[in-house]
Amino acid sequence: RAKDSGKNTHEFFNAEMNAQTVERLVLENSLRQALERDEFELHFQPQVNAVSRELVGVEVLLRWRHPQQGLVAPGRFIPLAEETGLIKPIGAWVLQAACHQLRRWDREGLIIPRVAVNLSARQFEQPNLISLVAGALEESGLAPQRLELEITESMIMQNPVETVRILNELKHLGVQLAIDDFGTGYSSLSILKRFPLDSLKIDRSFVDGLPQDGDSAAITEAVLAMARKLGFAVVAEGVEHEGQANFLQAIGCDSLQGYFFGKPMPAEHFVVWLAAGEATFAP
Ligand code: C2E
Ligand code: MG
Ligand code: MG
Ligand code: MG
Repeated sequence: RAKDSGKNTHEFFNAEMNAQTVERLVLENSLRQALERDEFELHFQPQVNAVSRELVGVEVLLRWRHPQQGLVAPGRFIPLAEETGLIKPIGAWVLQAACHQLRRWDREGLIIPRVAVNLSARQFEQPNLISLVAGALEESGLAPQRLELEITESMIMQNPVETVRILNELKHLGVQLAIDDFGTGYSSLSILKRFPLDSLKIDRSFVDGLPQDGDSAAITEAVLAMARKLGFAVVAEGVEHEGQANFLQAIGCDSLQGYFFGKPMPAEHFVVWLAAGEATFAP
């Protein structure tokens, strides 16, 4: 009996593993072709000045327009892209497309001050990362100060010596550097101070409970006070309500990003959103 049921469990487990493996292979295969087939698109989420509520920049968020599955969020394919190394060509495409889009808007008279692009840890292994960034700037003609690169704490902590070298080179190009999802990793502000970073983005998980939740409020206030003393600009992510926005403004946050101001939008929608004058949320 026991042996039988053990065997059944084993077979069931195998069948499930196989289904997962097949699904993964199918996904990996279509991910490989997605670039050639031009299935990726950039969405743009506004970032506003916390006081004036005017647009200060956009964060580029990648989407996959899958022929069968429709719009696929990065959480469903970035991990696989990282595992397979496909994130390198995909990430290069994102950088180039982001810089070009800003210049296209420039030519149309729509000046977006800054564009933020997420970098993955795997991209830091690329010996040509610096020339990739330099190339994207040069080909598009985008001024380096208008490009911000977002990296995470874990990327810094995995290989601090190598990371500081790369960040210094990137900084030398004139781009802005930001730490994404700040507070979710194990790094301290004093460690981050050793890296040539311009700003940090307070993770959504701290913003969620504001302003009611006392712990979130205390942590956010403390991080902000220290970040400002150390000379980092601070962006808050995941601002969904006016109460959160007003609290973050009151404690001295520099800029705000979240659904309250605008969701990530495809370029055409972003333009309509801007034209509708929704970029100003003056309190
Ligand atoms: P992230 O860089 O921290 O981006 C913020 C995420 O929070 C985005 O999810 C955004 O849509 C979402 N978000 C923004 N405001 C709000 C809000 O008010 N409420 C809530 N609930 N969510 C909000 P998304 O677009 O699904 O991206 C997830 C993650 O995927 C990003 O987190 C980033 O780590 C990664 N990612 C996105 N695009 C790229 C890319 O081009 N390259 C790389 N390497 N990673 C990317
Ligand atoms: Mg980000
Ligand atoms: Mg983030
Ligand atoms: Mg995140």
